[in-house]
Amino acid sequence: MAGFQAEYIDDYDILKIFAAEGVEFLVSSEGKVPLSECDGKIICLFFSANWCRPCRAFIPHLIELYGTLRKRGLNLEIIFISLDHDEDGFKEHLKSMPWLAVPFDAKLHRRFINKYQVDRIPSFRPLYPDGTIVEDDLIVTIEDYGADSFPFTRKRYEELKAKDRKKREEANLEELLADEGRDFLITGDDRKVPISQLVGKTIGLYFCAYWSPPCRAFTIQLMDLYNNLKAAKGDCCEVVLISTDRDLKEFNVNRSNMPWLAIPYEDKTRHDLCRIFDIKGIPALVFVGPDGKVTSTNGKFIVSSYGAEAFPFTESRIRDLEAALRKEGEALPQQFEDVKHEHVLKLDMAKAYVCDSCKEKGKFWAFSCDVCDYDLHPSCVEKVNKD
Ligand SMILES: [Zn+2]
Ligand SMILES: [Zn+2]
Repeated sequence: MAGFQAEYIDDYDILKIFAAEGVEFLVSSEGKVPLSECDGKIICLFFSANWCRPCRAFIPHLIELYGTLRKRGLNLEIIFISLDHDEDGFKEHLKSMPWLAVPFDAKLHRRFINKYQVDRIPSFRPLYPDGTIVEDDLIVTIEDYGADSFPFTRKRYEELKAKDRKKREEANLEELLADEGRDFLITGDDRKVPISQLVGKTIGLYFCAYWSPPCRAFTIQLMDLYNNLKAAKGDCCEVVLISTDRDLKEFNVNRSNMPWLAIPYEDKTRHDLCRIFDIKGIPALVFVGPDGKVTSTNGKFIVSSYGAEAFPFTESRIRDLEAALRKEGEALPQQFEDVKHEHVLKLDMAKAYVCDSCKEKGKFWAFSCDVCDYDLHPSCVEKVNKD
């Protein structure tokens, strides 16, 4: 093997590389495959290892992409180059892949890794003999966009990002919520509602999953608000569930009690919306106004702070509410001495409390004790003052 540093005529011509490396055949999980399988195909190298958890997590995304692109008639082949420590690991890993592999040979694979300067796995490298520039981080791109990532170029990636931006900024409900062949949403009892019926309403896009206790708690709050708004203002708003449930069964449990609409579980739009609105945690609520523009991406905070008062959930409405609240605070004394309590009570802002005089819930302004858990409604303080 001394002096192996072969001078490749073309780093992107896989058959020439195989010839130079002495690779005589490829393998699949079923057995040997002749090199002629690569003839005339777009070849992508996939560097991966069975011991690597991110690799294993990525493979379902790649299988989906592989299946979709081949179904579209694209002449694409993926060749797995292993970073496994031994042949058993390699074979185990190959079992999970529907594509081909270079037979296990740790030294040979190491040379491929050096040649393509693979510094982390999983790594996905399309080989374009014409020198087309591919996007750097294809793993994330494929996780985000699936088969739409093809042809994996920087240009394609920028087009996809721009499309997302356009959808986010010029939210056209139909473009945002529909998918090829589907122009409706479903109700909890499986009726279909045309998306066109939502146009002109205030829409809450609700990202939630049943397995998450904070989601279940927020769903109750949101249902309260939804029912109150419907009762007070009529059919002015709608909520659309964008489920991040783990499976269909969980999705069905999740939506069975919800009075609003949902995107069908099998639909990839769910995943697209999470990406478009950069949803990092659930529950999350994005409000879209009657003109189709996003009015707030912080709907969860708005709803849990202000409830139905916050309608129509625009920035200006929230500013007004905050100003009113400040004014209310300015009109109150800074502290108060309650004859029934040994400590001085101070004016304070609290997210939620229970008043120790009337035993009712309260939020925002309260007269609170620094020493013990004792809070009074400002209105109850006035009453105490009078008595
Ligand atoms: Zn009270
Ligand atoms: Zn006290």
